[in-house]
Amino acid sequence: MSNQSCITVDVDRIHQFNSEKVRTLTEIIMDLFSEYGVRGTFFICGESVLEHQDIIKWIAEDHEVAAHGYYHRNLKRLKPHELRQEIRMTQEAFERIGVECLGFRCPHLVVPPYLGQILSENGFIYDSSQVDSLFVAQRLVFPFTRMKVDGILEIPIQTFTALKLPLSLSALRLLGTTRFVNYLPDTVNHFYFHLWEFERMGSPSGEFSWRGNTVHQIRMKQNLLRGFWDFMTGRPTSPADLTGRNTGEDAIKIVHTLLRELAQTGTRYVTCAEWAKAQINPP
Ligand SMILES: [Zn+2]
Repeated sequence: MSNQSCITVDVDRIHQFNSEKVRTLTEIIMDLFSEYGVRGTFFICGESVLEHQDIIKWIAEDHEVAAHGYYHRNLKRLKPHELRQEIRMTQEAFERIGVECLGFRCPHLVVPPYLGQILSENGFIYDSSQVDSLFVAQRLVFPFTRMKVDGILEIPIQTFTALKLPLSLSALRLLGTTRFVNYLPDTVNHFYFHLWEFERMGSPSGEFSWRGNTVHQIRMKQNLLRGFWDFMTGRPTSPADLTGRNTGEDAIKIVHTLLRELAQTGTRYVTCAEWAKAQINPP
């Protein structure tokens, strides 16, 4: 029996790119996915759905598209009626372009109260926002509260290492471009990354070494420590220095390597919606 794995892509922060750039980055992901037979799930903000309709419809031909809020804001800061409106608007954006949307992921993975109930009122069948991480900032800022709402299934984000870091490209980028394979869990059932990570974000990259003392290596150490401090003190918008590490070509290389590793384990890819349906109505 083979393992099942969901590969998910968060499509946010793309307002800083023009349409051509969004298309180019999407193409890179689509090529990568078709090379490894991945059918993925793309979580997209409502405003981007309307702005990049052609690209979203094109993704939906081979993959699942799901919702990632309307404006990518912290949903916990909204009043209940604003939250309702935001989720309704998000589902309507998908309806307007005629693409089915069954899943939701909270921006910044911050889960507001009553989310499950509002999702179920708006035709969603699953949420995928929760991380059971032991990482200090994650515990304090985004406490893990398993959602129990009839009709909504939670697909948690997988964790790895002793700190239970979210199994994401952001975490793998921090570990380095090739060394990360040593830290991977035996079974990868859910891995996620962001579309913007495939664009070089102007911060030193490459293999990291604490002993390195070139100007480049020292700058990398400073950036890493500063970024780590910001993250530990709980700033949900990650600092550019930290998030810029190993983006662009290096990020693509990491996802390539990960998918190649997974291919050797005979992983079978399913979309989140397929996974959710199989859980709700077992065959
Ligand atoms: Zn996001």
